[in-house]
Formats: sequence, structure tokens, C-alpha cells
Amino acid sequence: MNLSENRSLKDFENNKNLQIKQRANSFYEFYCELKEKKHNNYRIVSKFGSSSNMRLIHPHTQEESNYISFVSNDYLGFTKHPKIIEAGKEALDIFGSGAGSSPLIGGQSILHENLEKKIAQFFKKEDAITYTSGYAANTGTLLALLQTNDLAILDMGVHTSVLEGCAHSNKKYFLHNDVESLERILIQNADKYCNKVIIIDGVYSQDGDIAPIKEMSKLAKEYGAFLIVDDAHGIGVLGETGRGAIEMYDAFDDVDIITGTFSKTFGAVGGYAVANKEIITLLKYFAAANIFSAAATPQAAATVIKAIDLIDTEPIWQSKLNSNIAYFKNGLDLLNIDYGKSASAIFPIMVRDEEKTKAIGKVLLDNGIYANPILYPAVSRKQTRIRMSLLATHSQEQLDKTLNILEFVQQGFGLSLRKNHYVSTEFEHYSVLKDDFALESCN
Ligand code: PMP
Repeated sequence: MNLSENRSLKDFENNKNLQIKQRANSFYEFYCELKEKKHNNYRIVSKFGSSSNMRLIHPHTQEESNYISFVSNDYLGFTKHPKIIEAGKEALDIFGSGAGSSPLIGGQSILHENLEKKIAQFFKKEDAITYTSGYAANTGTLLALLQTNDLAILDMGVHTSVLEGCAHSNKKYFLHNDVESLERILIQNADKYCNKVIIIDGVYSQDGDIAPIKEMSKLAKEYGAFLIVDDAHGIGVLGETGRGAIEMYDAFDDVDIITGTFSKTFGAVGGYAVANKEIITLLKYFAAANIFSAAATPQAAATVIKAIDLIDTEPIWQSKLNSNIAYFKNGLDLLNIDYGKSASAIFPIMVRDEEKTKAIGKVLLDNGIYANPILYPAVSRKQTRIRMSLLATHSQEQLDKTLNILEFVQQGFGLSLRKNHYVSTEFEHYSVLKDDFALESCN
């Protein structure tokens, strides 16, 4: 039997009657088939880490070469910024490699303390708590705050960490970015729960579209609900000073808690929640992911402190990113390629067909482009796409090469086209290259 035919990771979840070993063996067979078909483009190993140009070990040939990369959320290129690297090295020299224990019982160094002050100020809030990942920031914060008689009201597109954080409370979902659908849930549940907590992302990680935060915050006020926004993908990208989607809407006072990650624009690892001092104090004593888990490495804290400074002192990186976004978007418009409602650095190149998406992922890789195919169950089977994240450090030459390859892919596979197609006249056509692409891989 061809195991991988029409099967996905979803088929290996919740197999109630399988022993762990049977389930693992069955998944392993599926995984080997994917590898054999050269459709397993995940966990590709890089030699020198995140960058617009990454040296990778090809998953099928094991050969090493350079790729133009669109897989990283290091939007401003801060993972390789010399001043950030210097701050990290200095912290390593002074504080050593680890924090030693959780913040509550000895792991809170002056660097961790300063970082919490700094990230709170960055978002114009009173206080902050930090975690060792953005994932833990959501699970830790939500599990500590939501109790059994509360209702979490979630946009259908929120990150998995939010869903896990609401595991022990009541949950209802509204249609993605749909203000009316949210209002219906608020009306239907007006007097039913102790707390109603609306949880949204600022920028959605699969579509790159932005939440209507202002309208949603108005509804939160009107119906006495609490509002939490995870803006992991908006910081450094949106807002006049890089404070993200909330700054775009001037909604700092309308959002009760902002959560996020230090792993994207801030170029390190870790996460945070910022809010008023009473809520943060509660979290500092009740968020299990913070209390029972070692503090982040001092090096990570030091590099994030420097990254926060650089967002303000070197706005050039946000400008470069925004020019790249405009240039790339214009190129996709010229090709009439559908990138959904993206209004950020994330471009979903819509394919809307599973097998084609896998094949395009391979063609891109064979032609020196590293981008992630996003398949079911991460998105529905009709919404499969190649996701590309733009960075401030992409050069025009890299974007031109990518647009040329996408043009070639468009001709070979027929990508999804945009409706109401409009081409901006702001830019010249991207440069057409004379490179030979790997034509045979279209078959
Ligand atoms: N929230 C959102 C919206 C995300 O996209 C992500 C990461 N992809 C996270 C939280 C988790 O962040 P981290 O990688 O720091 O755990």
C-alpha cells in the first residue's frame, strides 16, 4: 500500500487504539515514503544559521550549497547584527552560559530585570514578564489567567500556543478577522461567564494579514470583555516606530495584554507578556511556565535589550524591510500571483493544491530558493501555499532572482491568480534574468 497517498500528519494524531510503539512505527513508514518521494523538505540543516542567504545541506542529495532564504522571521536581520552579537558575547563573559534557575528562585539577573522593564516601556505598559519562548508566553499567561468559569473567544487563525493556553477553559471561535462574527459570540454569551477574554494575533502567521484591532477593542469595551493580542509577526514590521499592529491602530490603551516572542524581529529566543503592574504581578507568581522553568540565558536577554534599542536608533532596517515588501509585492502583482490578504512581511504564495505545493517546494529548492510549503493540517487542503517571509537584508538581486523563478513556476504549474488584479505603477518591472532554471523539475 502507498502509505503517503492522501495522508497527512493529522492521520497520526489521536490514534486511540494504537500502542505508542505501533503508532511510532506506522508514522516512521509514512515518513520514509515521503523522503523517498523527495517531498520531505522539513528540518533542513543549515551550516551558519538564519540569514537571507543560507548555506544548507540539501535534504535529498546531502550536498552543501547557498540558498536565498525566505523561511526565517528574523525580519530586521538582527540575528547577525554586529552590535547585537557584541552584546551577547559580553553577557556570556560576565554572566556565563545559563541563568541557573527559574526567575522566582534565583535565576532573575539584572539583565532579565532590565529586559522586563525595557519591553514594558517599549509597549507603553507598566510591567512585563518574560518567558523562554513565545509559545510559553502564550501558554503560561493564559493557563494562569483563565479559570474554569471563563470563556476564551478566539479568532480561528490564532497560534497553536493560544489554543494550548486555553485548554482548561471554555472556548468559542469566531471567523477569521470577522468583527460581526465576534460580536455575535459576545451577544450570545453576554451573561454566561465570569470573564470573557478575546484573543487575537496582530499579524497572522500563515496569511500575513492584520487583525482589525481597533474595531475588536471597541467591541471588547462594549461587552465588558478583556483583550489579549499576540503580535509576534507585527513587531519591527508595522507601525511608525516598529511597535507593530497595535501601534498602527494607536491601540496601546485598548489592549489589556500584549504577548509576543523574542525569536523573530528581536533576533534571539524567548517571549513576553506586558500589561498593568497588577496583572503582571499575578503572572509572576502564578504562570507555571515562568515559575517552574529556568530563566532565559543571560546572553539572550542581553541581545534582546540591544535589539529593542536598535529598533529605535537604527530605523533604517524597518525602512529597508518595507521597501523590500513593496518591491516584492509589485513583482508578484506583475505576475498576477495570489498572495491572499498579506499586509506584512509574510507572503503566502497560494497554490491551493497539496501535490502541486509539495512539487513546487522541491522546484524552488532545486533552483536555490528556500521557502516552506505549508500543507494540511497547518492549513486546509484548499489553502495550501508556499510561505515566504521577507527580510530587511534581502538584496534587490535576491528578490529579482526569486521573482524570475516564481515566473517560471507560474508557467510550469499555474499558480493561483489574484482576483481584481491591480499593478502598482510605483516600480519599474523587476530585472529579468537570463539564468537557466531547472526545467525538468516541473514535471
Ligand atoms: N505566536 C505566534 C503568532 C507565532 O507565529 C509564534 C511562532 N511561530 C509563536 C507565538 C511562538 O513563538 P516562539 O517561536 O518564540 O515560541
